[in-house]
Amino acid sequence: MPINTITTTTERELSWQETALCAQTGPEFFFPAPGSSIREAKRLCGACEGRVACLEYALSNDERFGVWGGLSENERLRLRRGPR
Ligand code: SF4
Repeated sequence: MPINTITTTTERELSWQETALCAQTGPEFFFPAPGSSIREAKRLCGACEGRVACLEYALSNDERFGVWGGLSENERLRLRRGPR
């Protein structure tokens, strides 16, 4: 296999970023000021091809801030904690 066809795990894990809709809009929707609406971020995430991979990345890297994969900080925290 030619060396230039080898992709690292990191490259595969981050390939969803190439189609990330948030990269086309700017961070203000996804990292809003406290108390601001995240409705627009969630709407964009719902249409994003990389939503599942983005959410998996956020959960496995313990991303604490902002909207990732369509979930807010609190929603990701509840997901990590699981059912009670
Ligand atoms: S799911 Fe949302 S936060 Fe994740 S890459 Fe897509 S638009 Fe960005």
